[in-house]
Amino acid sequence: MPRGEIVIFDQHCKGCGYCAKFCARDCITHPSGRYSPQGYILPDFSAPDKCNACGICAWMCPDHAIDVYKLVEAEVAA
Ligand code: SF4
Ligand code: SF4
Repeated sequence: MPRGEIVIFDQHCKGCGYCAKFCARDCITHPSGRYSPQGYILPDFSAPDKCNACGICAWMCPDHAIDVYKLVEAEVAA
């Protein structure tokens, strides 16, 4: 299974919670107890070990506040 990592840009987030609602692997917690400078309730990437880089959270975010990265193992030269 591919492994993934997401970056949430707090300054763009409007606190809708769609990312947490639509992550099928429950990687994102919303509400998180954190707030943006504008006062929006922020999500947390709380279970990164379960992320498979599917990208759904980024697709669902109406404010383009999430980047998704697929982690690959580096090849080591013999
Ligand atoms: S990339 Fe997929 S599995 Fe990872 S946090 Fe986003 S929705 Fe969840
Ligand atoms: S979907 Fe986007 S705007 Fe909504 S809570 Fe998640 S990061 Fe914030």
